[in-house]
Amino acid sequence: METRLCEFCLRSGVLCSQCREKLRSGEVSELYMKVARFLLEIEDKYPMIQDAKLVDVVEADGILALVVGRGDREKFMGYGGRLIREVRDAFRRRVIVVESGGSERRFLEDLFSGYRILTINVIWLPDGSSETRIVLAGRRLNEKRIRALTEIARRVRGISLRVEHT
Ligand SMILES: [Zn+2]
Repeated sequence: METRLCEFCLRSGVLCSQCREKLRSGEVSELYMKVARFLLEIEDKYPMIQDAKLVDVVEADGILALVVGRGDREKFMGYGGRLIREVRDAFRRRVIVVESGGSERRFLEDLFSGYRILTINVIWLPDGSSETRIVLAGRRLNEKRIRALTEIARRVRGISLRVEHT
């Protein structure tokens, strides 16, 4: 698996000066390092992720979002969800997988995976900023989940999200 830290540093637990600097500057978080190390440990069981990329790891309100390379989501979601369950059990967080890059719609579909999206539209505000409004049909999300996913959308894609139900 391709990560933002050296594989050798992650495996040995002893960081080179470059990796140390990435952590010190906040370019890479402590959480990212822990998740990347864990995934490297288990990747032999899940060969599909060996050529996948772990771009970032974001945590909000009990949800752990793995931000992976474009086209890599299926590699993490495969194996009947076994890999995701292993990460969930190790970090005791609900785990979701989204891709970096790609369209905003695709990102939102992955973010709200398992829910039915009725509409997505962008609302322009008088100050020139925009808000993305997403309307879900069917199964409702609770407030805590909405807050968590909204926070993840903001941090991963810079999207200001407003979630509504029909
Ligand atoms: Zn290193």
